[in-house]
Amino acid sequence: MCHGPARRPGGSTDICHRGGQVPPPKHQNRAGWASIVHQPHVEAEDDCGSDCRNSHHRSPGDRDIRERVVPGGTPRERTPQKKLTPRVARRRAVTAPPVCPACLGGLVPPNLWSDRWRCESHGDVEPFHEARSSREQVLRSLGRSSRVPVWLPSPMPVHWFVSGVGWAGDERTGAHATAFAASGPSPVGGPAEMVLVAETPRVGLGSRLAGLTVPDPERLDEVPEAKIEAAGHPTALWPIAAPPDRAAFVGEALGVWLWCVLWPADAALLLLEHLVMEDLRDDPRLVDRLLFGAPGSHLSTR
Ligand SMILES: [Zn+2]
Repeated sequence: MCHGPARRPGGSTDICHRGGQVPPPKHQNRAGWASIVHQPHVEAEDDCGSDCRNSHHRSPGDRDIRERVVPGGTPRERTPQKKLTPRVARRRAVTAPPVCPACLGGLVPPNLWSDRWRCESHGDVEPFHEARSSREQVLRSLGRSSRVPVWLPSPMPVHWFVSGVGWAGDERTGAHATAFAASGPSPVGGPAEMVLVAETPRVGLGSRLAGLTVPDPERLDEVPEAKIEAAGHPTALWPIAAPPDRAAFVGEALGVWLWCVLWPADAALLLLEHLVMEDLRDDPRLVDRLLFGAPGSHLSTR
């Protein structure tokens, strides 16, 4: 075993002076927050930045990007990072830093002075992630770990499919909001998309999707306009004064907000049908019955 000094190409992979690998350093800085930033929450590829070179991401193919190591020999000079292998190019295409759930703005990650993600406009927020790949795996993971319900229609409307999955939270706090998007034919013709959000107060995800500028609904009409079944309970939904391109409703289920936003507005006719929502946390097998299709545009962080 080599006891020589270790070199860290790219700042993370340790190569000793003989070219052998030494174990990666424990993921912790002085403040102990690096582990929060780098450790995957529900989907390693989407949570870590594209520059993360930790052991849970490394592969022999990746190492060629940063360095070339002759087996049993000494490391050569690093290869310039301009040329990406297809694997890394794909990873960068599906990797995105978390954004503010309320405005989609960039965030300042936790640092020495704060353990929260921070938006310039909204202060401390729960970082919002969009699953750009492996939506099925993300859903399964949320079903196991989310602190709030993961609502999905059961059964899905005819010919509808999953078009997006998102969540807000980090490794330390868990998911404080979940978002499930589905697309399919509108009852009045043409394509439609529906996003279901469960979130704790002040997250601001459902509110943004509904077109509001405040994180929570301020005033609800006295009479709810729709009623659905959520986790076996009749649940009232109140209409929200949304922009004309969509219809938005909000209610409360299992102690947190339940938002239902539909595009276009007349897709709200779906709610007149007997819409049943199940919490994926109650039955992980619900994922097995879902169809996954092209990503929609309304849950996207791009
Ligand atoms: Zn913001």
